[in-house]
Amino acid sequence: MKPIQDPFPGRLSTKILERYREFSPDSMGDTSPLVWERAEGCRVWDADGREYIDFTSGVLVLNVGHSHPRVTAAIVQQAGKFLNCYGATSEVIAEFLEKLAELLPPRLRKIILLSTGSEAIEAAVRIARAATGRHEVLAFSGAFHGRTHMAMTLGGMQSIKQGFGPVAPGVIHLYYPYCYRCLFDKRYPGCQLYCLQQIEHAIRTESSGSIAALLIEPYLGAGGAVAAPKEYIQKVHAFCREHEILFILDEVQSSFGRSGSMFAFEELGIEPDMVCLGKGISSGIPMSAVAIRTDLAKCVRKGAFGSTYGGFNPLACAAGIATLAVLREEGVLENARRMSVWIMKRLRDIQKRYPIVGDVRGMGLSLGVEFVTSRESREPAGPLALEVSTRALRNGLALLLHPGGIHNNVLRLMPPLTIDKQTAEEGLRIFEDAIEYVQKHHGRGPRKGAAAGRR
Ligand code: PMP
Repeated sequence: MKPIQDPFPGRLSTKILERYREFSPDSMGDTSPLVWERAEGCRVWDADGREYIDFTSGVLVLNVGHSHPRVTAAIVQQAGKFLNCYGATSEVIAEFLEKLAELLPPRLRKIILLSTGSEAIEAAVRIARAATGRHEVLAFSGAFHGRTHMAMTLGGMQSIKQGFGPVAPGVIHLYYPYCYRCLFDKRYPGCQLYCLQQIEHAIRTESSGSIAALLIEPYLGAGGAVAAPKEYIQKVHAFCREHEILFILDEVQSSFGRSGSMFAFEELGIEPDMVCLGKGISSGIPMSAVAIRTDLAKCVRKGAFGSTYGGFNPLACAAGIATLAVLREEGVLENARRMSVWIMKRLRDIQKRYPIVGDVRGMGLSLGVEFVTSRESREPAGPLALEVSTRALRNGLALLLHPGGIHNNVLRLMPPLTIDKQTAEEGLRIFEDAIEYVQKHHGRGPRKGAAAGRR
């Protein structure tokens, strides 16, 4: 891969950015200077023909890699037939539902198709309310569930809600175990999950006695790749069972192989009452889903979730069928598991060498690197993280430019699940070079042997 020359972004990219900015109120946040022209597998090319390794998968959407030939062919074929059939169904839709249901546990085989992850979350909450006759929802600090009104309310980060209050009533937030910065200053596993105690405490102090459901992410995604200890989620699941609270798992981002299994609930050894799916489900043609317990389906009022691009979206279903086939037939999940272990090991090596790397963590191929001013203080270093991602981009590695996490200091590594070792190594070298540069210019310099230890 050729090093990227100045000026950056290039001339053609700059022109497009200017045209875009003239009419966009920047509702998506500061736009990355990478202006996409095309992408294939784990690589992207910009409008000036410069090549990048992609550690974003769009935004965890292209689990099977960009423009997978089987997915592209399915989309093109369906586009040549028809694109909308609202109020009617078609074989392509029935087939997608069948193929998705085959992957789900027998008790979770009623599926509502929608367009975005936020809608799937809203639908799950409404079903929980209809099914239980109760209205409160337990959600978690640091969570991200989308940006529609209820989804925003359920989120546990101020940045999602800022300026948009009042938020919806009926949501009680609990503490999500963020072991690197434990609120109770404990260490896992010695803590014996002390944080579980605050669930009952919050219920006793905050609830009006009308809890319908609990909504949780298998790991905080936008919240900084923070994976709760598996036993924590298992215990929360058991608590819900005991108290007849519906357990909703938000797998909008962790599903379709991202966690290392088809669904994260398989990794966690639990069966939710509802699971929200999205992103990787259809490789970029917007679609989301809520898989619900079959006995809850009777609570779904006819027409309650009708939407222009929901339930009857033939293009998304065609993309979905092809995506599921690739995931099942091309060893993608096995590769994701292997590469997760391999990349994690490399990240741990990097962590040892650079004190500004406070923590490395994650689940499957949704990994996070948390930046701090020093290892001892653990003080969040958002600006350093932003500098690393900006420098990495200039040198040919696309990360989500703006750091995530409640302190905006976590860079996330989320390549397509099809990534091979050579490409991952190429990307990690660019990543490490950027860290080394930022460390040298801002911190105490890399530890002895940093360069020698690099592969
Ligand atoms: N839940 C999770 C865990 C997510 O990561 C996201 C999107 N990042 C959403 C819900 C919302 O999905 P969408 O942006 O498609 O509305």
